[in-house]
Amino acid sequence: MSYWLEVVVAAPAHSAIAGPLTYRSALALSPGSLVRVPFGRREVLGVVWKTLPDAGDMPPASIRDVAGVLGGLAPLSASWRKLVTFTAQYYQRSLGEVALAALPPQLRELTPEQLARRLKRPVADTSHAPSAAELVTLSAQQLNALAEFNAESEGQQRPALLFGATGSGKTEVYLRAAAQVLEQDPQAQVLVMVPEINLTPQLQARFEERFGHLGKERVVALHSGLTPAQRLKSWLAAHSCQARLVLGTRMAVLASIPNLRLIVVDEEHDPSYKQQEGARYSARDLAIYRAKLETTLSAPEKAPFSSGPPPEESSSSVGSDLPEAKRVEANICRVLLGSATPSLESWQATITGRYQRLDMSERIGSAGAAFQGKLPTVRRVDMNHQPKRCVIAPPLLAAIAERVARGEQSLIFLNRRGYAPVLACHDCDWKSDCPHCSAYRVFHKIDRTLRCHHCGFTERVPHACPNCGNIDIAPVGRGTERLEEHLAELLAGVTRPDGGPVRISRIDADSTRLKGALEAQLASVHDGEVDVLVGTQMIAKGHDFRHITLVAAVNPDGALFSSDFRAAERLFSLLMQAAGRAGRDARYSEASEMWVQTVHPEHPLFDALKRHDYPDFAEQELIEREMAGLSPFGFSALIRAEAKTQEVAQGFLNAAALAAQTQQLPGHELVTPYPAVPMTIQRVANIERAQMLVESASRIALQRFLAAWQPLLFETRRQAEFKSLVRWAIDVDPLAI
Ligand code: ADP
Ligand code: ZN
Ligand code: ZN
Repeated sequence: MSYWLEVVVAAPAHSAIAGPLTYRSALALSPGSLVRVPFGRREVLGVVWKTLPDAGDMPPASIRDVAGVLGGLAPLSASWRKLVTFTAQYYQRSLGEVALAALPPQLRELTPEQLARRLKRPVADTSHAPSAAELVTLSAQQLNALAEFNAESEGQQRPALLFGATGSGKTEVYLRAAAQVLEQDPQAQVLVMVPEINLTPQLQARFEERFGHLGKERVVALHSGLTPAQRLKSWLAAHSCQARLVLGTRMAVLASIPNLRLIVVDEEHDPSYKQQEGARYSARDLAIYRAKLETTLSAPEKAPFSSGPPPEESSSSVGSDLPEAKRVEANICRVLLGSATPSLESWQATITGRYQRLDMSERIGSAGAAFQGKLPTVRRVDMNHQPKRCVIAPPLLAAIAERVARGEQSLIFLNRRGYAPVLACHDCDWKSDCPHCSAYRVFHKIDRTLRCHHCGFTERVPHACPNCGNIDIAPVGRGTERLEEHLAELLAGVTRPDGGPVRISRIDADSTRLKGALEAQLASVHDGEVDVLVGTQMIAKGHDFRHITLVAAVNPDGALFSSDFRAAERLFSLLMQAAGRAGRDARYSEASEMWVQTVHPEHPLFDALKRHDYPDFAEQELIEREMAGLSPFGFSALIRAEAKTQEVAQGFLNAAALAAQTQQLPGHELVTPYPAVPMTIQRVANIERAQMLVESASRIALQRFLAAWQPLLFETRRQAEFKSLVRWAIDVDPLAI
């Protein structure tokens, strides 16, 4: 007896194999089963997608046999397969690429014995759940947010957006919402997504502490910083339902979590939720879609899990102080997004009522919910009226010195690492450009190198100008490294309360290259061993620093007049986040300040920032976006092409667009392709890059158009004149344009 199966394998992204392949099996295998199949001369991991009644048109002799089955693993669920199918279609990639990328790489190398060993039963639960008395008392706003979240009527449980100021206690709301779900259904699983786990080791500790009582390995992490073995372990724990809570980065949205009942997306506006290679998915958007799927599809498949014992009333204490915490139905999966500066897409969805909005405008202070913290006062420094070429304006410098003398911490951020952006010759105008990219190499003083931040090309600093021989070449502009040095000079005479000299530390991609370096540096800030912290946006996000009373953005103007329509949104959110690092301890919050140095102090963005008024900023932006038909009022995709010359890269894009027009692709009447242009950084590592923007007021029309366009793009690629094209790719809902 033979069975015929459609199996998806990780076909190279641009190979002709986009769909599943047919195999034969002696065993009946259900869809979602993991198998090993011959592929070319190799044996690869595959996922059974569908069972077929017969071999169809294919001559049976040409069909190969499944080589093996990964026994002991439950098949991947129907909702997971639907999610993968949707992701592949929506982001214009192959099914196999998305499906296999979502599985841990080590799964491919495992023998059945190894797999069996890893699937050992979990250790029994030991300790008890924290009692209500052991938890913080929720603030009125936290209680209210949870009550509203629970009050959504059944069948209409919209995604919720928790719009909460920095320091308003959003994390505690996530913890309670998760606890509620986990308690009410002893099989339920929760996914909590965060932008970058390395930046928030504190958060993981908090979740482990809160849910530690569920037993060992009940809380697992899933992110790219794990070793392959750790990643496999976490994935298996989630897939086998041993893990009750998965804490992960964007990749976790595609993990197999069969009993998923709640997805939390912390800092939902963060750009790192968008994957920047392969299938360029937005993990936030997929979370919304996934929750919908899990809600409608999970019911028929829950058989092996649904008959667990009911939760014991006596042991459930977490969350029991919540008003009307409703029993979560087994087949409902909700989404809770959270941010102090939501993406305009999510914000607009709360305006139209597609999402539920939960507000927490007040900060929590150190003494708990009863003691309200304040957001820092925002001060704009008009750099037009400061000494020429000054980097830190005198009043800001004085304010920092005052903090040092009082034993408080300051955080100074600048979005450019390195010493200075460029090295220049004042005689002949030579600048340290990168020979392989259309960008300048950055001067790193610490090892006296010129380093390209795009291709990595690194050279020793030349002794003289390579162009005219002048030995007087000097740094122009400023990066974090030079700022750190400069601040050390400016603050040299200032002493701390204990009489010691000021201690300055820098955190950026350079200072944290070594494993563990970031954790160590963050710990020294938390332990009060640093007075002034200099860094890039790495330090502006998420950290719960308790003793910072001054935050300063040294030079944020660049983004005000960017060609990218999202630049203002990103800047506003970054500055709000940065401001959120100041005065997190209510004892200091009264006197905490956020300084912004700018030559445009009257800009409405800074005005909204001064009032900590995200809704006002959003309103201004949304008006402009609506007029221009930009997201969230319009939809777009970017097609990028890379070649040895701009001519070929642009020519390919334009030719493919022309073909689309000539053939009147579905949706074309509602879709506008713009002419190809060079990318902002036009050349990287000697490869020329071009892009073409495609816009539509209709998401569906754009989707239909792109799907029909793919084969034409492949066809165009095969034409002789575009032979030197290196690659092309589609980015749907691009974040940066
Ligand atoms: P957000 O994520 O909104 O910026 P956090 O969740 O980091 O805020 O909370 C800020 C601080 O307030 C944290 O140190 C947290 O432990 C504390 N906190 C949160 N809720 C309460 C509460 N109800 N009572 C006392 N402290 C709280
Ligand atoms: Zn010169
Ligand atoms: Zn370069």
